[in-house]
Amino acid sequence: MRYASMKNRVLIVYTGGTIGMVQDESGSLHPFALDRIIDAVPQLKHCRYDIDSVTLDNIIDSSNMTPSLWVDIAEIIEREYDKYDGFVVLHGTDTMAYTASALSFMFKNLAKPIVLTGSQLPLGMLRSDGRENIICALEVASGRLAQVPEVCIFFESHLYRGNRSTKISAENFDAFETYNYPSLARAGINITFKEHLLLPMPAEPLRVLKRFDTRVAILKLFPGITEAVVTSVLNAPGLQGVVIETYGSGNAPTDAWFINALDEAIRRGIIVLNVTQCKAGAVKMRQYAASCDLDRIGVVGAGDITIEAAITKLMYLLGNYPDNKDHVRLRLSQSIRGEITE
Ligand code: ASP
Repeated sequence: MRYASMKNRVLIVYTGGTIGMVQDESGSLHPFALDRIIDAVPQLKHCRYDIDSVTLDNIIDSSNMTPSLWVDIAEIIEREYDKYDGFVVLHGTDTMAYTASALSFMFKNLAKPIVLTGSQLPLGMLRSDGRENIICALEVASGRLAQVPEVCIFFESHLYRGNRSTKISAENFDAFETYNYPSLARAGINITFKEHLLLPMPAEPLRVLKRFDTRVAILKLFPGITEAVVTSVLNAPGLQGVVIETYGSGNAPTDAWFINALDEAIRRGIIVLNVTQCKAGAVKMRQYAASCDLDRIGVVGAGDITIEAAITKLMYLLGNYPDNKDHVRLRLSQSIRGEITE
């Protein structure tokens, strides 16, 4: 499908989500075909760039997103990379931050914008936030306003770094936030970029790394967590890595059973990553005595990374560097696509 005609070109990759859903007789929302979406935004015919679109084989509620669908999305973009100035991925909001993080890691040396967007109300509804989101995402992806060599999320007047983003509201149009990094641009009368916050243009050619190891877990701590729960997660068959969601600046219980369970898992080669439960701020190992043991036994501190970026980065590194755990550990502690403040 092709609309308008001028110089720059944007490819829309439609994956599903509320933006394209219609209500059935019972009132439940189901994904629907892309043509209907474009019909709902007639303004797109007046864009000053060409828009093409492709749809995933099965359009989904993003609760059904998987690493193999991340690869499908990445392969579409990789295949069309040279033909377009940028890409818009229409995606459900529920797991958008995970997909944005995963894509950011997969696309090494990305030189063009990949902008994910969606909406809280379907495009077909009168008060839908989808029209504004899709138009602004296209404007950014067209490359006519600024060079944006990164994976982003556009939502309700802000452009965010994808791997810094978190969905914060199941209700408000303002559904995303990047607590540990400012937004990259703001859409008012103009779309104003904070260019100094964008990733630099890469010097090397694009590489797309497509492996994910899903033998990972997230273990969220809470006062009262039992040894049975902790050890059952750490002894899950085949487990390669676990993110522990700790308190505050990376603190955890100092009970011997807890530290010994982690220590024993690390000795078995399992990578343990420390991410804070706090929405803002960073893990600082050894700031408190309550993180000294974690540091001593080899838990990796992940700074101010989000949980979405942490788990996708862990899967990505384990998948692509399976024989080099030292490399995986090192890269987990560093920023590889702007996901950690250094
Ligand atoms: N459940 C929907 C999805 O993530 C929610 C949305 O798109 O806003 O696909």
